[in-house]
Amino acid sequence: MSETTETIFSKIIRREIPVDIVYEDDLALAFKDIHPQAPVHILVIPKKPIPTLADAESQDHAVLGHLLLTVKRVAKEAGLENGYRVVINTGDDGGQTVYHLHLHILGGRQLSWPPG
Ligand code: AMP
Repeated sequence: MSETTETIFSKIIRREIPVDIVYEDDLALAFKDIHPQAPVHILVIPKKPIPTLADAESQDHAVLGHLLLTVKRVAKEAGLENGYRVVINTGDDGGQTVYHLHLHILGGRQLSWPPG
């Protein structure tokens, strides 16, 4: 399904492609999605190039937990006090297009359920 390869997100981490960064620390980067699906659409990614959630291993537990806490922090800073959705598209059936793990934060409008 996936392998560790260079992706556009690796280039974003190295600042080779400009994005609108909203948060960064040693483990994670958060930036605005280039094709927003909601008034607020931010991606939170690990700096470690884990291709998909299915590729995460037990030693990644700290970074995975850090990503969720980063989502909470970024969502609060984005003003999403009324709620938001966190999505991790995983693999082909999950609709993943960039094979570097990322968490979508979607908010700023009422979101429908179920997703397509
Ligand atoms: P997914 O379909 O879950 O793999 O999500 C990949 C996301 O990356 C999509 O929502 C894209 O719009 C977004 N994306 C791709 N390239 C860029 C870029 N250069 N800057 C910001 N977001 C991007």
